[in-house]
Amino acid sequence: MRIDSLKLLALASSMALGLPLMAQQPATGAPAPKHQDTEVYEPVPPIVTPGATVGAPPSDAIVLFDGRNLDEWVSAQDHTPAKWIVADGILTVNKEKGVGNIETKRSFKDYQLHIEWRIPSNIEGSDQARGNSGVFLASTGPGDAGYELQVLDNYNNKTYVNGQAGSIYKQAIPLANPARKPGEWQSYDVVWTAPRFNSDGSLKTPAYVTVFFNGVVVQNHFQVQGQTLYIGKPFYKAYDKAPIKLQAHGDKSEPLSFRNIWVRDLTFDPSYTLK
Ligand code: MG
Repeated sequence: MRIDSLKLLALASSMALGLPLMAQQPATGAPAPKHQDTEVYEPVPPIVTPGATVGAPPSDAIVLFDGRNLDEWVSAQDHTPAKWIVADGILTVNKEKGVGNIETKRSFKDYQLHIEWRIPSNIEGSDQARGNSGVFLASTGPGDAGYELQVLDNYNNKTYVNGQAGSIYKQAIPLANPARKPGEWQSYDVVWTAPRFNSDGSLKTPAYVTVFFNGVVVQNHFQVQGQTLYIGKPFYKAYDKAPIKLQAHGDKSEPLSFRNIWVRDLTFDPSYTLK
């Protein structure tokens, strides 16, 4: 009776601690495993010097806007030089008719992106017409919707929740609303894993996205359903690499501004997986 009680006690303790009831034993005759068996020394991760301050570009970043010029950007419509306004180290949407969206000259696959944006302090309007812009994580062509991470004033502005700041437009409600007041700078830090396609154009693996909004996770490895359409259901269309695009939405009040934009190439290196 006492032995049974002790056994029960051991079983209960083991379950409470989450311990396996029996340690895994090597097959009879096999050499005992060593800690070295699961330790690898190559490839050595490249040295990256982090930014001097939080949000500053690390040494391997491609700087897309550092306050000086739009050399890395073109018009999304016709790839002529981008005509947004650069002044005082800030990039501001140009609302002139015909200017429209801008996108990067370079194309990207998997990447880490940092971008800062500011809604003007005297913003007017409501719902989607209040500080609307967007970061298109892949701008796959002039006729495509692309993949939009929404930019909007949602400090005190109600709209459909899958269209507020931090949403993957009309697909993913942000996990929180950490929006700052209009007039204050805000940040997005994004990890984008591009979709992969088979040679016949069918989807092989979907896109995934993780987004920090002002340092708060708002998208956690969300499985993207396709392009972010205004009307209709999302669908995928094959592409390999694509520019990053910023949206000129055309609100009536003062336009938005951006600063400190950089990206790091994250194209997956399979040699990093354990053999
Ligand atoms: Mg938008």
